[in-house]
Amino acid sequence: MGKGSPALNQLIEQSTARCRYNQRLLAASRRLVAISRRELNPYFGISGSSDEAAGAPPPRWADALRELVRDKLADGDLFALIDTHCWSGPTTGESCAVCGERIDGGIEFEIDGPAGSVFAHLVCYSVWHGESKDFLLLQKGDKKN
Ligand SMILES: [Zn+2]
Repeated sequence: MGKGSPALNQLIEQSTARCRYNQRLLAASRRLVAISRRELNPYFGISGSSDEAAGAPPPRWADALRELVRDKLADGDLFALIDTHCWSGPTTGESCAVCGERIDGGIEFEIDGPAGSVFAHLVCYSVWHGESKDFLLLQKGDKKN
């Protein structure tokens, strides 16, 4: 910091940190908005459905969901899903650990976590599982360097 008064320098540091935190929240909100768009289509997550053009890129919400999972894994908000026990069954109204939405209708996944059971939508679980493999590979790569 410069030669300003300590109180002023502290205020500037706090403001900078809060700005960074706000940018993170904004990015997370944008991803959640993109993910929530899939709610408009009850058949989300089923590739090859009739509304998906052949050879078309995956829907934007899928990318947003993958990005959200990656960020949550990096921040420690989600644990890596390798060798974890999980069960699927009819929904019980729990919130999804991945997207935060209530799981109502269809199937929910219950996952044995380090701090007890967590729940996830089928599509969220699927993305979480896929991204966990990449996350662990990346971590192993980091340790070697
Ligand atoms: Zn979900």
